[in-house]
Amino acid sequence: MTDRKQKGEVPVSLLLASHCASCESKKVKASCPLCEQTFCNSCLEWLSDDAFFLETSRPARLSHSHYCCDCFQSEVADAFTLYQENAAKAREAFVFFTTQKKGIPLIRKANQSIQIKDNPDRDETILRLAYQAVLQGHNAIIDCEVKSEKQRHGGWQKMKWSGTALPATVDENKMNY
Ligand SMILES: [Zn+2]
Ligand SMILES: [Zn+2]
Repeated sequence: MTDRKQKGEVPVSLLLASHCASCESKKVKASCPLCEQTFCNSCLEWLSDDAFFLETSRPARLSHSHYCCDCFQSEVADAFTLYQENAAKAREAFVFFTTQKKGIPLIRKANQSIQIKDNPDRDETILRLAYQAVLQGHNAIIDCEVKSEKQRHGGWQKMKWSGTALPATVDENKMNY
C-alpha cells in the first residue's frame, strides 16, 4: 500500500500497554481491527479510503484503514486484487449511449438495466455503471443515458448526475476503433 495516511490513531493506554506482536518493536502504532493485536507502523498494511472506490457494498471486514500483514494477506489481499482487476475491466468497458446509431456487435445482454444515482461527476457515473456490468460478467454497457440536475444548496449550486444502462457483452474482435 502506498497511501500511508495517519489514521486509526492509538489510544494512549494502548501505546503504553504493549509492543509490536510481529517484530517486538516498542513503537506501537495501532491494533489490527481483525485480530486485535498491536503492531508497529512497518508491520501494518494501510488501505486508503478509496481502495474499493467503485464498490458500493464493501463488506465490514474490508472497510478498515489498516490491518496487520497476516490479516491483510488472509482477509483483504485477494478481494483487493479482484477489485483492482474488475476496476481495470470497467475502465476498458465499451460504452454505447442511447444515441448510438451504428450497429453494436452484441453477443448477449442482461435482462435488467442498472442505475447510478446522485453522483457528483459524469465520467464517474459511467464508470460505476460499467463496473456493475463487469461484476455481472459483461464487457460493455448499452442504452447508456446520463442526466444531470442542478441542486441548490443555500447560495450555491452543484450538479448531480444519474445514469442508466443495460449490461451487455460485445464481440471485442469487431470493435475497431
Ligand atoms: Zn512491528
Ligand atoms: Zn491482524
